[in-house]
Amino acid sequence: MSTEPRTVTLATADHGDVTLPEPSWCAGHAHHDPESLRVDLIHAGPAVDLDHRGRTLLSAELVQSPHASPGPRHLGGRTPGVSVHPLGQTLNPVELYGLAADLDRYADQLRALADQLDATLGGGQ
Ligand SMILES: [Zn+2]
Repeated sequence: MSTEPRTVTLATADHGDVTLPEPSWCAGHAHHDPESLRVDLIHAGPAVDLDHRGRTLLSAELVQSPHASPGPRHLGGRTPGVSVHPLGQTLNPVELYGLAADLDRYADQLRALADQLDATLGGGQ
């Protein structure tokens, strides 16, 4: 088994072939567009989806753009983060725990609403 760091070489429109260290969590670059700019290269992990009735309500994945220009952290960048759709932001660990806590509260509210609906409909009689 090789102890060499994994790398991936990707064609770009502005810098030719670019070789990057490949993080162990990256799901690969099967859909890479060779017309991409180097600044837009991105590692992405497998998506974690919240699906319900055939629709994806929420999706999250580890991401890192190793050549991103400096910018607002919530838009992603050189530091790995978790991109959340449709929120459209890249979160750090504290923010992701915050999202999980909000979803816990929301699940409680849905259960309370289901209880209210069940009572309104006669409590399963
Ligand atoms: Zn990658």
